[in-house]
Amino acid sequence: MTTTEPLDVQPTPLALLLLGREADPRSERGVECPGDLPAPSDPDLVERARKAKARLGDRVFVLGHHYQRDEVIEFADVTGDSFKLARDAAARPQAEYIVFCGVHFMAESADILTGDDQQVILPDLAAGCSMADMATAEQVAECWDVLTDAGIADVTVPVSYMNSSADIKAFTGRHGGTICTSSNAKRALEWAFEQGTKVLFLPDQHLGRNTAVRDMGFSLDDCVVYNPHKPGGGVTPEQLRAARMILWRGHCSVHGRFSLESVEDVRARIPGVNVLVHPECKHEVVAAADQVGSTEYIIKALDAAPAGSAWAIGTELNLVRRLAKAHPDKQIVFLDKTVCFCSTMNRIDLPHLVWALESLADGTVVNRIEVDKETEHYAKLALERMLALP
Ligand code: SF4
Repeated sequence: MTTTEPLDVQPTPLALLLLGREADPRSERGVECPGDLPAPSDPDLVERARKAKARLGDRVFVLGHHYQRDEVIEFADVTGDSFKLARDAAARPQAEYIVFCGVHFMAESADILTGDDQQVILPDLAAGCSMADMATAEQVAECWDVLTDAGIADVTVPVSYMNSSADIKAFTGRHGGTICTSSNAKRALEWAFEQGTKVLFLPDQHLGRNTAVRDMGFSLDDCVVYNPHKPGGGVTPEQLRAARMILWRGHCSVHGRFSLESVEDVRARIPGVNVLVHPECKHEVVAAADQVGSTEYIIKALDAAPAGSAWAIGTELNLVRRLAKAHPDKQIVFLDKTVCFCSTMNRIDLPHLVWALESLADGTVVNRIEVDKETEHYAKLALERMLALP
């Protein structure tokens, strides 16, 4: 349909959330950004960011997640995955302000791991993570009741991926579990199976399944998927009792879109290509890949790859583009034609960064992410268990 009349369309609550103009206390995303943001077309943005950062000096430490835009990464003091960045922030006690260019759960983790006198800032409060949003505290508490009714809660150990809210990390700490990253998921699961006979893996079913089946010799039949939107998780007590891995039905909306067809297609287009994917991809994609690893693993693998080699990478597009630029002597392509950026990560742009830095330089703390003390205590317990993993 074409029309020359203006469409009388009111933004839906969802549209407002995605635009960051509405509050949704149940979500990682969608809290109103209170400031007057500079226009994206302002030609002085780069200069303004430089000046504001210089005014703040050592009082500010800017963290840039690997999936951030180039315009933001340019101002990062360090780059890395979420856990490395939280640790980098903790190792900078002199920095009064930690500006986290990433998503909400990452800023929470940084707040948990940094000192009480350090303030963590997320330049756009609407930068959440759809995966972290897939497991809420209420849903997970209900799941634990289901496991209790099935008589298996006392032999089940929660293992939560770093990509989860502080509430879920605290649940994990309270119930004797640990946090894991995509680099140490196998070690975390091995530890958990020494503590109990079953694992409740939250919130990314793919990382849980891939680690158990690909790296630890479990079968797909050892796994069940708990769906928080169905009564009893959509599984019977018998299925829960028979399972070793109880996988939460969550996924990454970026990595979950890579498909077996994309692997087959790139192999047909580029003979001899090495397919390297992130373990948040679906099991069939991981099974068809040549190598599987975290973002840090991907970066190191490409650093070590010989000149002239060809690589198809299944992870977020901003990172893949930067890697291709950094290695002009290698052929590095994005695994899929249709998968694109992490849209919530991409919310942090130069106008938001400039606004946050200028506000801090003027003495106003904006968009502070602060985890309450009790949640922090139990979340830290789970994080410390991860740090103590052999
Ligand atoms: S890439 Fe996936 S897991 Fe990472 S922040 Fe985006 S939605 Fe979340």
